[in-house]
Amino acid sequence: MVEIKTPEQIAKMRAAGLVVAAMHQACAAAAVPGATTKDLDEIAAKVLADHGAKPNFLGYGGFPGNICTSVNDVVVHGIPDRETVLREGDVISIDAGAIVDGWHADAAITAFVGSGHKAELHELSRVTEESMWAGIAAVRKGHRLVDISAAIEGYIRRQPRPASGKYGIVEDYGGHGIGSQMHMDPHLLNYVDKRRGRGPKLVPGFCIAIEPMVSLGTPRTHVLADEWTVKTDDGSWSSHWEHSVALTEAGPLVLTAPDGGREKLAAYGITAAPDPLD
Ligand code: MG
Repeated sequence: MVEIKTPEQIAKMRAAGLVVAAMHQACAAAAVPGATTKDLDEIAAKVLADHGAKPNFLGYGGFPGNICTSVNDVVVHGIPDRETVLREGDVISIDAGAIVDGWHADAAITAFVGSGHKAELHELSRVTEESMWAGIAAVRKGHRLVDISAAIEGYIRRQPRPASGKYGIVEDYGGHGIGSQMHMDPHLLNYVDKRRGRGPKLVPGFCIAIEPMVSLGTPRTHVLADEWTVKTDDGSWSSHWEHSVALTEAGPLVLTAPDGGREKLAAYGITAAPDPLD
């Protein structure tokens, strides 16, 4: 059962999305050598409080942070703590969410700590982010869920292979419906699995978090003893990007992008829906 939102509900999700964008801006600026992941969590908590928004990650299944901070070979769900000190050359995925008036938004960025990263890490992040945008561009009336998966996978497979061999599209995690809860139906694979069928038809009011996770090696992962932290099986580093997207009568609106996705969607010949809060 897919929850279809009214324009008023999408406007609330947009308000939540802008809080998430502000969390990312503040956390990315603070992701410098010497900072701990707990420092980033405290900054995120302050942004939430300053906007009168609530965290959706904190307490979710017992999760102890306001955000997930996933460093290097950690793919997702890293727990912010005082022991994890960011070092020059690290790569961190910052996954953040917010609730405004009971409506959720969720997004992730990959940030580079300091400088001097290998070119293949920058390329990994670029490929992952652009695959997300290819998926967002597939959020169109009349499309099916599988069209989003196909756009993400297709983009990644068309890229030149990294020196490490090939990109691993993480299989155990994916995108999800979002709205009155953070995680709702349908689950969105970042690749096509023919056994799953084509999925629901995309109609105005459909909202989805699109979040490819890609490694420089294996698609396979495992969860550490803390029951949260997800690492690649081969220790390869990974990237994670995410936006929450609403399909409206006027086209897609990227709820967690400051410009609603206008600039990136224009490259696909798509006009982003007007911002309901403008
Ligand atoms: Mg998500």
